[in-house]
Amino acid sequence: MLADVVVIGAGFTGLSAALDLALAGHKVIVLEAAEVGAGASGRNGGLVCSGWRQDQAWFEKTLGLEAAQALWQIAEDAKADLVGRASSLGIDIDWAPGLLSLAHARSTLAWLDDDAALLSARYGQGGVLTRLDRADVAEATGTSVYHGGWRDDGAGRIQPLKLLYGLADTATAAGATIHERSRVVSLGGRSAGRTAVTTDCGAEVRALDVLVCGDAYLEGVCAPAEARVMPIGSFVVATEPLDPALGIMAGASGGMDTRFVVNYFQKTADGRLIFGGGEKYTPGWPGDIAGFVRGNLGKVFPALKDVHLTHAWAGAVGITPQRLPWLREISPGVLVSAGYSGQGVALAPYFGRLLAQAVINRSGFADVLGKLPVPAFPGGRLLRWPLLTAALNWYALRDRLA
Ligand SMILES: Cc1cc2nc3c(=O)[nH]c(=O)nc-3n(C[C@H](O)[C@H](O)[C@H](O)COP(=O)(O)OP(=O)(O)OC[C@H]3O[C@@H](n4cnc5c(N)ncnc54)[C@H](O)[C@@H]3O)c2cc1C
Repeated sequence: MLADVVVIGAGFTGLSAALDLALAGHKVIVLEAAEVGAGASGRNGGLVCSGWRQDQAWFEKTLGLEAAQALWQIAEDAKADLVGRASSLGIDIDWAPGLLSLAHARSTLAWLDDDAALLSARYGQGGVLTRLDRADVAEATGTSVYHGGWRDDGAGRIQPLKLLYGLADTATAAGATIHERSRVVSLGGRSAGRTAVTTDCGAEVRALDVLVCGDAYLEGVCAPAEARVMPIGSFVVATEPLDPALGIMAGASGGMDTRFVVNYFQKTADGRLIFGGGEKYTPGWPGDIAGFVRGNLGKVFPALKDVHLTHAWAGAVGITPQRLPWLREISPGVLVSAGYSGQGVALAPYFGRLLAQAVINRSGFADVLGKLPVPAFPGGRLLRWPLLTAALNWYALRDRLA
């Protein structure tokens, strides 16, 4: 079979790219190993964060002020595009602004203060950032475990599955074809300007361009991406709809704390708390995910320690060594975007659009994004697990000692 573009993976990145490509008249085939929503895009906490996993001070020091400001603007554009595009496509994503960054220790409150001062002074964020002291946080969230924090009204939360299904529907309506239960098992060589893509049921598609959008779920298909993007297990629960009298998240749409193993949460449109907490750095999920997360939930929200949990699930977050996404044309006609390192709700749909633009304009990624330093994890595919596990467990221990 022939296609203009094959997209591997039906998450935010892949479907967003497929939609723009189909609208531009390209024949697009999306190959999805499981089903739409099986990856991180259907399992995440829905927090729409500002900026990147590295703070702006790190970018200024590492890449210089000009690159830092360009990157900040890209992340701002990604958030605006998420909300604006959903609205113009008629996809209701339950967007609500008002995201809290919460300090679990005095030292991290000082870091949040410094970060907010820099964002106000050099990135024009003074109008959307509000300082909260301990009592303000308790009033907004219903928990008094945090030392204080900041509210960002340029960030917020969405219902991610609504976005994902909306993208799938509009991409299909625009002419893209999505094949579920079609795992790509090999990317072949290039001949006559086309790359051969083979699936586990033996189908072969020969495409002018291949977009590799499998992020943390890629396995054995694209070695350069898999060397840079590690899957980290993250675990989420949903409570039953909460009694408003509990005052949980009465004054904000979502929040996350400053722990290395971050706790993150949002109040859904139907009054539940979605709470993510706990990570796992070795393959395989815990047998009792609800039990695994409940401990953290009870520590952060003591009023919810015995609440009824209606759902519990796990997903793989794709992280890179520097926590920066990797956007590249790795060989002629083979493009990758992955490794959003926990910030993909805003970034992945936008990066999907950048992939589509690169194909439509035959432009590559010459700007700051194409130059982000994203090395491979040390140790190769086999040794990276023990090395990374040791490093990440050390940081997790520091959380517990803070
Ligand atoms: C539990 C959890 C909570 C998170 N919370 C947040 C949050 O609150 N805010 C935030 O910004 N980010 C969050 N993230 C991260 C965010 O969800 C991801 O960065 C983003 O969804 C990545 O989108 P993607 O399309 O690149 O990958 P995915 O959504 O993972 O999609 C990749 C798809 O590729 C498919 N695939 C893989 N290999 C193949 C193959 N060989 N053939 C065919 N198909 C293949 C997979 O089945 C999958 O469906 C969270 C992630 C998790 C797991």
